[in-house]
Amino acid sequence: MQNLANIGALRQLLDEAGFSFKKSLGQNFLINPSVCPRMAQAACDTLSPGRPQGILEIGPGVGVLTVELARLADKVTAVELDERLRPVLDKTLAGYPNAGVVFGDAMKLDLHDLIAREFAGMDVAVCANLPYYVTSPLLMRLLESRLPVKSITVMVQKEAAVRLCADPGSREAGAVTAAVAYYAQPRILFTVSPGSFLPPPKVDSAVIQLQVRAQPPVPVTDERAFFALVRAAFAQRRKTLVNSVSAALPADKAVLLAALEKLGLPAAVRAEKLTLEQLAALSNLLQPAAG
Ligand code: SAM
Repeated sequence: MQNLANIGALRQLLDEAGFSFKKSLGQNFLINPSVCPRMAQAACDTLSPGRPQGILEIGPGVGVLTVELARLADKVTAVELDERLRPVLDKTLAGYPNAGVVFGDAMKLDLHDLIAREFAGMDVAVCANLPYYVTSPLLMRLLESRLPVKSITVMVQKEAAVRLCADPGSREAGAVTAAVAYYAQPRILFTVSPGSFLPPPKVDSAVIQLQVRAQPPVPVTDERAFFALVRAAFAQRRKTLVNSVSAALPADKAVLLAALEKLGLPAAVRAEKLTLEQLAALSNLLQPAAG
């Protein structure tokens, strides 16, 4: 099989299939041959060597990452939304009996069920070059549903990578930062330039890895209330936490101010200054009042 990351081979494959890129599906295919082997190795390194290894991929495109994953893992199952890629993937994955594709929307499919069906008894990780239009909702779907996976190794926009992997309490932090930090230990592995893709996206990209936590790092009495508070706190970044939260939730300003005081935080503090522990403590304090 020709190298799928080779631009000439990729163009030929796509021309033969009469395939045209759909921007709306975030279709930027990798043509840098060094990226997929690195991503595949990083994903498999998070799995126990003594156990069968399964990889769930989202958005295989023509299968450039899928084949690298299939070389390392015992089984790869990829979820692809675009049915037009079926004949292409039939061809490119023909030599990899341990790789298969499920056609469907990764935002809608029951991924717990898919993992139970495809990877029974295996250690599982997610690895993907994500469609950028759906990065945060998809990652939150995987994390919030507590998908039974050890890690998530994904290509995202560099700007998103910085926010997803920021420390809560730092300038780059947003609501998604706190949510990711609650479920996982994130880090940026390496950056990737626009020229590594066909067609090239307008922005730089980065591969990040989330090591999924077995337990949350902070005690939270009501997760739904905690995430509602986090979203409200970061909803209007220029405002103080109190103003941002009271604009979005039925929370009394005086109660919020009293809770901040109890935590030793200034009345005019902004959400990005709070650590995950402080956000959790604030939510736990407010819970009886906001409840
Ligand atoms: N993995 C390939 C690569 O690296 O060249 C393709 C990556 S491309 C950035 C994103 C892929 O995700 C495309 O194949 C696209 O059709 C697919 N996709 C887009 N939305 C999807 C969704 N909701 N569920 C599953 N796949 C999706």
